[in-house]
Amino acid sequence: MIKNLSKTKSTSKTFSTTSMMLDQKLTPNNYYENWTDRAFMSVTWFKKFLVCESEALAELTGKWQSVRDVKALIVGNWLHSYFESKQAHEKFKDEHPESIAKRGPTKGQLKSDFKMADKMIKVLASDDDFNLLYQGDKEVIVTGEIGGYPWKGKIDCLNLKQGYFVDLKTTADIYKSYWNEEKRERESFVYAYNYQLQMAVYQELIKQQFGVTCKPYIVAVSKQDPPDKQAIDLPEYRLTNAMNQVLESQQHIQDVIKGEVEPTQCGRCAYCRSTKKLESVVSADDLLID
Ligand SMILES: [Zn+2]
Repeated sequence: MIKNLSKTKSTSKTFSTTSMMLDQKLTPNNYYENWTDRAFMSVTWFKKFLVCESEALAELTGKWQSVRDVKALIVGNWLHSYFESKQAHEKFKDEHPESIAKRGPTKGQLKSDFKMADKMIKVLASDDDFNLLYQGDKEVIVTGEIGGYPWKGKIDCLNLKQGYFVDLKTTADIYKSYWNEEKRERESFVYAYNYQLQMAVYQELIKQQFGVTCKPYIVAVSKQDPPDKQAIDLPEYRLTNAMNQVLESQQHIQDVIKGEVEPTQCGRCAYCRSTKKLESVVSADDLLID
């Protein structure tokens, strides 16, 4: 990590109204509104801060828009809406006319990414075991307090009666390995994307809201043709370690958000590249050393 050399102190007056915002209730309609991201910590934002504090802060305060794979996000939500309800899927389809080709020989048909998403949906929907597992309330909003700060989360499928919840994940290849430079080891997509942190936070929020400790499951479906699928559970020590990471890193992240501490820069992301100044010289021998 490279310390932020910039002398400009970030100020964020917007946070002074946090306690007032907490009186407002989270609903499916306002869940993704900007004020809720400032009033509640969420797994998405926490992971952004773990990756690059400078970029995350700039995005949270509206000074920067991160470069995201928007198409991948829409394709993922296409699949999620199907398993939420028929109504939710129809609404999502109506809201995304860009899924249908407007010209060429495939005019009027679904574009290839969405055809792929439909294949992924079919692979799960036609699996009896998946249908047995994916029973419960869908897209359940949960809130609670972790380490003294308010958090929010949205559970894909929550089965309180049987004590578990399920999160659907789309991924390139379930068995693909990712290199973790810090740990100097290969790891699966689950750990590469820190999904254990998401599962640990969701488990805690569900426990606080409903008084039930639920077992987390990931159901992964791959973007291969034909798609692969796998139900995955997480070893207990991974969930414990993830919750410890939240508790250890949270105060610093909150201090950064409040403008009390300078954010660190990762030095590699789009935001860091866009704000970089050619102010130092690095030996060629040290280029690959963090
Ligand atoms: Zn960065």
